[in-house]
Amino acid sequence: MGRTFQLFFVHLLAIVSAARVNTTTSQLACSALSAGSLKSLVTTSGPQFEAGATHAWNLLNSQLVPACVVFPQTTAQVATAMAAIYKTGAQYAVQTAGGHSAMEGWDNVQGGVLIHLMNMRNISYHKASGCVTFQPGLTWGQALDFLEPYGVAVAGGRVNDVGSGLLLGGGISYLANAVGYSADTMREVDVVLVTGKVVTATANNSYSDLFRALKGGANRFGIYDNSSSAAVLTAMAHFAKNVNDPKAAFLLYQFNSFANGVITPIIVLNAFYHGSSLPNSSFGEFMAIPSLSTNLTAMSYYDISYLLGDPGAPISLVEQFGASVLEGSDDVTPYLEIFSQYSTLCDQFKTELGGTTLSFTIVMDSQIEAGRARGGNIIDAPRGGFYMIQFSMSLPQGPTNLSPALAAARQIFFQKAPRTTGLPLYIAESDKSQQVFQTYGGYQEMKATYAKYDPTRFNVEHTDGPSGL
Ligand SMILES: Cc1cc2nc3c(=O)[nH]c(=O)nc-3n(C[C@H](O)[C@H](O)[C@H](O)COP(=O)(O)OP(=O)(O)OC[C@H]3O[C@@H](n4cnc5c(N)ncnc54)[C@H](O)[C@@H]3O)c2cc1C
Repeated sequence: MGRTFQLFFVHLLAIVSAARVNTTTSQLACSALSAGSLKSLVTTSGPQFEAGATHAWNLLNSQLVPACVVFPQTTAQVATAMAAIYKTGAQYAVQTAGGHSAMEGWDNVQGGVLIHLMNMRNISYHKASGCVTFQPGLTWGQALDFLEPYGVAVAGGRVNDVGSGLLLGGGISYLANAVGYSADTMREVDVVLVTGKVVTATANNSYSDLFRALKGGANRFGIYDNSSSAAVLTAMAHFAKNVNDPKAAFLLYQFNSFANGVITPIIVLNAFYHGSSLPNSSFGEFMAIPSLSTNLTAMSYYDISYLLGDPGAPISLVEQFGASVLEGSDDVTPYLEIFSQYSTLCDQFKTELGGTTLSFTIVMDSQIEAGRARGGNIIDAPRGGFYMIQFSMSLPQGPTNLSPALAAARQIFFQKAPRTTGLPLYIAESDKSQQVFQTYGGYQEMKATYAKYDPTRFNVEHTDGPSGL
């Protein structure tokens, strides 16, 4: 608090990317790349290859073995790599320094070509325009480290080791209710199309449709104890319906840890208020609930970004996400129901699970309005105040596959968990099986934009990612 924020615009290099794998085409692509101008950037084995191939946060992705890994440093090099992939018809995947995709196969590819963006780390701040220009190989924490001396910040993720791929899903920062989705703060994006052609998309140039589709198009376009849970859920349902304060943001989650069949639950509220005092009207109902521990303190945006996430933590767990969405309401029944279903699932598989989280992120009218004022995005969520709900689960160290029973029970949970129709699911928090694009207000527009920029459907046929296009 007490820090002045400026507007944050992002100039991101996003390649319009891309699981059937044809090893011949992949070998052809890797051979062509190894023999060409990128040869010093292509690896098929050794420490650098391992660093890229096993970099993904999710063990489901870091255990996939690509045929080769390309480490471009410039847009032109990304374009060269993409052109070779297109020409040979190879399967491919794109990964950033974050590598935080929870979806198996979306940021690595067994036997295909992995374009790893981890060496694209240039960043600059232009004081006059208030713009930050950066390549996609930086995590949000690294971007904030660079920007902190200038007293400005980018609206990245709430966890500092997440990467720039967040923008392609929309992106939720602690400033979302004031500035919109993180993607809504983008001003200009350099895009490498599947053919290798490079275009720059803005809200007002001839690629404005692409610019809009990138904001949600993913890789296709380029605390309290358990007895207090009802009170917390009630406060939440009321908050979404009644509070529209762009200075307020929170991430509330119930975390279960599992050991020897015993579940240890905890509810954590990370509430953030961008101001010099905390009005009772925003978090009053939450603050009235007795808690085991409260830490109320003034912090900068930079400091808060280091509350969650540990860049040095091991990143080799099997993780799976799934999403729902609920409108704000005086009726807390659906909130209690989703919590009940989540608790039942956790109890049923308490000897198999390592950890689970049910988290709620508020999307206020102010966030939707801020995004629309900047030209909007393809998610095109309605006004009204709602929660993006994320269910994540991890296995303990060791197993790399869910039991068939747990895999099936997750799918039943996604089908039966309460969900408000007409509200968009958040792609970065969903399960692969969930039809996220179809929930977007701009779904038909997105399909038309996709057909225009990838008429041969190379992306959907050659890289794993969301369905629906
Ligand atoms: C621990 C954790 C905390 C999180 N916290 C937040 C949060 O606070 N707010 C939030 O909004 N989300 C959050 N997320 C979700 C996060 O936004 C998504 O997982 C996001 O996709 C991660 O981006 P990345 O760059 O780290 O990962 P990657 O896996 O490298 O990329 C994600 C996807 O985008 C594609 N992609 C990335 N860059 C490009 C590019 N330049 N061109 C083409 N395709 C590309 C990749 O191929 C992949 O499919 C969190 C996830 C985790 C695991």
